[in-house]
Amino acid sequence: MDRRNFFQSSALITTGALVGCATPGIAQQQVKTPFSVPGTYIPIVGAEEQFPVRRIYCIGRNYAAHAREMGSDPTREPPFFFQKPTDAIQYVPPGTVANHPYPTLTKNYHYEAELVAALGKGGRNIPLDKALEHVYGYTLGLDMTRRDLQRAMGDQKKPWEIGKSFDNSAPIGAVHKVAQTGHFTKGAIWLKVNGQIKQNANLNQMIWSVAEQIAKLSEAFELFPGDIIYSGTPENVGPVVPGDMIEMHIDGLPNLGVKIV
Ligand code: MN
Repeated sequence: MDRRNFFQSSALITTGALVGCATPGIAQQQVKTPFSVPGTYIPIVGAEEQFPVRRIYCIGRNYAAHAREMGSDPTREPPFFFQKPTDAIQYVPPGTVANHPYPTLTKNYHYEAELVAALGKGGRNIPLDKALEHVYGYTLGLDMTRRDLQRAMGDQKKPWEIGKSFDNSAPIGAVHKVAQTGHFTKGAIWLKVNGQIKQNANLNQMIWSVAEQIAKLSEAFELFPGDIIYSGTPENVGPVVPGDMIEMHIDGLPNLGVKIV
């Protein structure tokens, strides 16, 4: 299913559910609009319902060796987060390879393999020992990055959004409910390009666990059901070019495949 069809089918699915699209502070009622804007939904394994994506948060430099390869000292840095727009999502069904368009403006396009937590419950100042109760499910995703633009903007002390938050920059798999998978605190995470291993690490090497990320994020933002969190990438990020095939794996989830076109 390509992206356009996915969004079309999503739009159909949501027609009847418009009133359920919660915007805090806005009364729940049918609103007339001059055109329709599709929402973003990710299929849930074993369910007819789809996961509605509200916000995409991403943590930066969450594996020590990756922080070092990015030129920072992982031992002295509190966690930091950025966002991608929800329509950056490119859903990749399990067992398929999605065509992923090489983006404009970059000459150094990087993969970042990441565990993704999908929240079913929100809150502010969520205590660490309650944080995992807010997770609805998990999946895996790629935080695709225009590294040259990210670096150039950082060097100029400008927002790095153009390097991180562009169209299709968030390929992602189906959501697996916690009841199906348990919580992910350890296990292999790897990424291959054209069959060759590039990233190869363990989730237990995260500097900030998923629970800690939820607790920390909720100090800065009120979290809501539908928020998803890209939990950071291990070391050995690197470039891809059109024609390359990316396969990524996390123990306990089906692999994610994209071909750069
Ligand atoms: Mn990342």
